[in-house]
Amino acid sequence: MKKTDLPFSIDLNGRTAVVTGAGGVLCSQFARALAACGASVALLDLNLDAAQAVADEITATGGKAFAYKTNVLDKDSLEAVHQSVLKDLGTCDLLINGAGGNHPRATTSQEYYDPSNIPADTVTFFDLDKQGISFVFELNFLGTLLPTQVFAKEMVNRPGASIINISSMNAFTPLTKIPAYSGAKAAISNLTQWLAVHFARTGIRVNALAPGFFATKQNEKLLFTDDGQLTERSHKILSQTPMGRFGDSKELIGALLFLLSPEAAGFITGIVLPVDGGFSAYSGV
Ligand code: NAD
Repeated sequence: MKKTDLPFSIDLNGRTAVVTGAGGVLCSQFARALAACGASVALLDLNLDAAQAVADEITATGGKAFAYKTNVLDKDSLEAVHQSVLKDLGTCDLLINGAGGNHPRATTSQEYYDPSNIPADTVTFFDLDKQGISFVFELNFLGTLLPTQVFAKEMVNRPGASIINISSMNAFTPLTKIPAYSGAKAAISNLTQWLAVHFARTGIRVNALAPGFFATKQNEKLLFTDDGQLTERSHKILSQTPMGRFGDSKELIGALLFLLSPEAAGFITGIVLPVDGGFSAYSGV
């Protein structure tokens, strides 16, 4: 990604950004954008190959990036990576807590419970698996809290220090089928506010992005049929999105850079910024 690909640019030269989940769809984009603004970027991911591919791409286009195999749920793994980042790239100024996700074992098959119609292989609310639910809560909530414990200490009193967590639409109103993921993202929004208050006198601003629906390579099978038509789920999403379209990933990058910029957002801390075409504002009527 070049500077000219960005919706706008902020000056991150001399800054070090740590991005968790950086091998994934959204956070790899964030890592590319941060590098295009001049930041040195540490890409942390359980999937080293995915993070390394993004780091190589950034390096090939003149940026500075290192990939690190990291489990955001393992404090020892985080501490070890922290030491490597310090050596390779320096002190963390910006932390993007992007690792997160859902699990099929924490997902119901149907939107509504109808005891008179439970086809074979249906996972009802009553079948949800405790381990699947714990996995989702830990990955999203602890996976945001632990990296913050490890990296935020050195961010205290650093000019422009900023943390961005990734919440979701389902934090405002739960989406059907995914009670654990919705609850875990609500917990991230809550933690964002808590951290913002806790660090308010240290110069660290803490905010979250709540992405609406973005058409990406990863979800294209869910959103589009093989011949490029909208699926039933897409129609439902768009009918609840007042702007009547999916987001463009650049619109998420714009929100990220805005929140990170001390010039643009220096008095903003503790917010969860929806980037959703009005989805979270719409009652459906
Ligand atoms: P993704 O699955 O493409 O990327 C997630 C990355 O996190 C993967 O590379 C994975 O290897 C990594 N990861 C998983 N467990 C890890 C662990 N224990 N330690 C370190 N890394 C780990 O997901 P995405 O769509 O890019 O989503 C990124 C964030 O945005 C997530 O928090 C997700 O919940 C959130 N989000 C996504 C959307 C969306 O539409 N894609 C919408 C709202 C919120």
